[in-house]
Amino acid sequence: MAIKNISILGSTGSIGQQALEVTATNPEHIKVRVLAAHTSDEILEQQIRKFTPDFAVLTDRYAADRLIKRYHGPVEILSGEEGLFAAASYEKVDTVLAATLGYVGLRPIMKAIECGKNIALANKETLVAAGSLVMEAVNSNNVVLTPVDSEHSAIFQALQCGKVDEVKRLIITASGGPFRGYSLNELKSVNLSQCLKHPNWTMGRKITIDSSTLANKGLEVIEAHWLFDMPYEKIEVVVHPQSIIHSLVEFSDGSIMAQMGEPDMRLPIQYALSWPARYKNAFRRLDLLKVGTLTFEAPDIEMFPLLKIAIDCGKAGGILPCVFNVANEEAVYAFLENKIKYLDIPYIISKVTDMHENVTLPSLEDIEMADKKARQIARQIIVSL
Ligand code: MN
Repeated sequence: MAIKNISILGSTGSIGQQALEVTATNPEHIKVRVLAAHTSDEILEQQIRKFTPDFAVLTDRYAADRLIKRYHGPVEILSGEEGLFAAASYEKVDTVLAATLGYVGLRPIMKAIECGKNIALANKETLVAAGSLVMEAVNSNNVVLTPVDSEHSAIFQALQCGKVDEVKRLIITASGGPFRGYSLNELKSVNLSQCLKHPNWTMGRKITIDSSTLANKGLEVIEAHWLFDMPYEKIEVVVHPQSIIHSLVEFSDGSIMAQMGEPDMRLPIQYALSWPARYKNAFRRLDLLKVGTLTFEAPDIEMFPLLKIAIDCGKAGGILPCVFNVANEEAVYAFLENKIKYLDIPYIISKVTDMHENVTLPSLEDIEMADKKARQIARQIIVSL
C-alpha cells in the first residue's frame, strides 16, 4: 500500500484534529505534508511539533506573525490566502483534506482539484454552494473525491454493493438533534448551551447548531445530490436518534444496505483517506448488544422547517443553495454571538431565500457575488431584529 501524502486545510478545527488522531494511528499509511489553519496559532504550533509537516499555514496574518515570532523550528510558516493555495497545490501532496470552516474553502479546493489532488471533503458548504462546478472539475481532472461526512461515507460504502442504475433511493439518517419532539413554545426559549449539547456526536460549534435546526440535514441532502449524482426525488431523510446506522442505500430489488458503526467521526475521516483500502485502528467498536434497539421516525418539518427550505433551494438549483448556506452561516454565527434568538435562525433564512432571484448555471463569480449579496441582506435583517 502506497503511503498517502496529505495536506490538511483546517487542521485546528474539530475534523482537522480528529484527522490528526487518525494519522497518528496510521503512521505507516499517512504522512502529513502540510497543516493549514486560520487563527489558532497555539494549537497549530503543537501540531507542527508533533507532525513536522513540510510547511504550515495560518491564513490570519496576525496569528502567523505571533507564531513566527515564537517558533524557531525547521518548519516554514506561510500566511494569508496564498498560504492556503500553496497548501492546496503542493507538489508532494496527493490528497487534500478539505476541513475548513464554511464556505472559505471553495477556491483552494478548486485549485487542489485543478492540480490533480484527490479530495477528502469535510467541507459540505463547498458542494452546497458550488456543486456543479466542483463535480465538473473533479470529473475533468480525473481526481477522486471521497466524503468525510459520516452519512455520505455510509452511502459511499453502501453504493459499492451495486451499480448506479440499480439504486432506488438514498436514505440519509438524522439524529433529530437535541430538540427532537419539542413544541414551538419549548423551541422559543432554548438557549445556546442547550444547542451545543449534541446527543451523539462531538463536532464543531457551527455544525452542532445546524444539527439542532436540521439545516445540517438539508445541506447534506444537497451534498448527496452532487456527490452521488442523484436526483432529489431519490433522496430521503429518516430520523434515527441512536446514530448507529449512518445512512442507507436501497437497490432495485428491495435490498437495503446500511453502514453501521460507533458515532465517531474518526471512522469516516479514516475511510476518506484509506479508500479503496481499509486501515486497522483501535477505536471503540460497536457493541450491538449494548445498542439493543434502533428506531426510526419521520422528520418534523413543521418544527424544523430548514430541512424543507434547504431541499427546496437544492431543487431550485442555481445560486439558491449558496444563498441558503450563506443565510444559515450568518444566522448561526449571530446566534453563537448571542445576537439573536433561536427561532430567528429559520426566520432570517426564509426571508433571505425568499428575497433572492435565482441565477441558473452560475459561474464561480456568480456564486461569489450571490454569497456577498446574501450575506449583506442577512446582516441587515439581523441588525433590524
Ligand atoms: Mn453529517
